[in-house]
Amino acid sequence: MITISGQAVHRQLAIGRLQYLSKTHPELLRMPAGDTEAELAAFRKAKAEVVGRLRELYRESVPKVGELLAHTFEIHAMMVEDEAYSGMVETMINSEKVTAAYAVAATGRHYAQMLAQMEDPYFRSRSEDIREITERLTDVLLGNHHEVTLTEPVILMAEDLAPGETMQLDHSRILGIVTHYGSESSHAAILARTMNLPAITGIAIRDEWDGHEAVVDGENGLLIVDPDAETKEVYERKILRKRQEEDELAALLPLPSETRSHVKIPLLANVGSVADAAAAAEMGAEGIGLLRTEFLCLAGEDYPSEEQQFETYKSVIAAVQGKPVTIRTFDLGADKRASYMQLPEEDNPDLGFRAIRISLAEEEPFRAQLRAILRAGAYGNVSVLYPMVSAEWEMRRISDIFREEKEKLQEAGIPVGDVSQGIMIETPAAAILSDRFAGYVSFFSIGTNDLTQYLLAADRRNLTVAPYYDPHHEAVTRMIAHVVEEAHKNGVTVSVCGELAADVTATAELVRIGVDALSVAPNSLLSVKRAVRECD
Ligand code: PEP
Ligand code: MG
Repeated sequence: MITISGQAVHRQLAIGRLQYLSKTHPELLRMPAGDTEAELAAFRKAKAEVVGRLRELYRESVPKVGELLAHTFEIHAMMVEDEAYSGMVETMINSEKVTAAYAVAATGRHYAQMLAQMEDPYFRSRSEDIREITERLTDVLLGNHHEVTLTEPVILMAEDLAPGETMQLDHSRILGIVTHYGSESSHAAILARTMNLPAITGIAIRDEWDGHEAVVDGENGLLIVDPDAETKEVYERKILRKRQEEDELAALLPLPSETRSHVKIPLLANVGSVADAAAAAEMGAEGIGLLRTEFLCLAGEDYPSEEQQFETYKSVIAAVQGKPVTIRTFDLGADKRASYMQLPEEDNPDLGFRAIRISLAEEEPFRAQLRAILRAGAYGNVSVLYPMVSAEWEMRRISDIFREEKEKLQEAGIPVGDVSQGIMIETPAAAILSDRFAGYVSFFSIGTNDLTQYLLAADRRNLTVAPYYDPHHEAVTRMIAHVVEEAHKNGVTVSVCGELAADVTATAELVRIGVDALSVAPNSLLSVKRAVRECD
């Protein structure tokens, strides 16, 4: 029996046989091409063939994994057709006189490395997409065939799992996923979560394990190869208990989130992508309480355009089928920065230039984001949420900008929605002055992650002071109670969207205080619903 520790991606358990998906793409050697025209023609033909196959895979995958995940194939098709990518391949073929396969491999490596260096895990994991389309193209150019068929239920083990590759497999035959590379936000990870499969990454894969029995412990990030009888029995019992627990929670799906005395506590979801929003809808979220939009900013050379944002927000609205969507404006700065933002180096970035402070200092990106939100509002029930507000003058400025942008759109005859405004209560100042802020907005969302760090003077990312960072501290509880009281006196609703909202040991207290809604990660929705239903 060997136990290897990795990083947990999805907290599930499985026992089964390992199947090794070998990496069949050796580095391509630089090959001079005899006939440049023939290489260019081969590349264009391969491109057309790959795009055709990807569109076919898209159609086949929709019924298997849903529109949103299947959309990956559409995105891959667009990437193959992307002019920058194709342009670089063709330039290499022309100027360096290399083969099409080599030019494709080198171009893919260039873009994959560029994305892999990005700070944000979401964009880092997009380098997988580049690698995958590159491999599809080189396979066609070299005449390789790599499609795998599963004949029995297995635990997949691979250095890296390309998203499309995973989606092409027969899902009823996948028990779990173990990879060496890949992040928590990679497609394989998203798919594992969507299919509720145990998944771990960071495991140094050994091909000799192929065919061996193994346990995947996605709760503790463990792979146990050749488990002994005792270990196997322990896990079999755990799996059984987990199934019972899941069945219990699944039974709650159609039931309302309300206390024993029938007080309704809507459960909303915190999401950071369109795929998360779809997962939230499936888990019964009554809407999106917090759409973290920073993921749109952390790649590329500049802020995302108004159009790009408009399309993404519309996709989120579509994913939750018309339920309310609260879009938080960019919460950049501190640990979320890209080079084009030219943010200053700071000694205390959490107390520095971040969130709404950046938006108000660099108005144009903020105005573009508000326009995108207002326009998306015409397609659903949309609210806008401002992060880290701490002074009343900020709120006056925000209200002016919001009104100006709305009027400009209306004057231009562009449809806008009736978008309501809210602020995150994350600073003690906003909490203490909540009666004042209530005059500007129709809802508050309490960000207990930041509120705790600012109130208790304990950095949320500094493990040394972790014992001081306590969202259950009485000072935090009293501050939440103060905000709720002032909000309700002034006709403003309050939700909690920090991690405390998903902590079932806090649910009864939050409900007692009078919080109107809770917004939690999609996979916490059902456990929080159970906690709400147990409240008096
Ligand atoms: C919070 O601060 O509680 C919050 C929800 O915002 P974030 O975790 O994105 O800072
Ligand atoms: Mg915050």
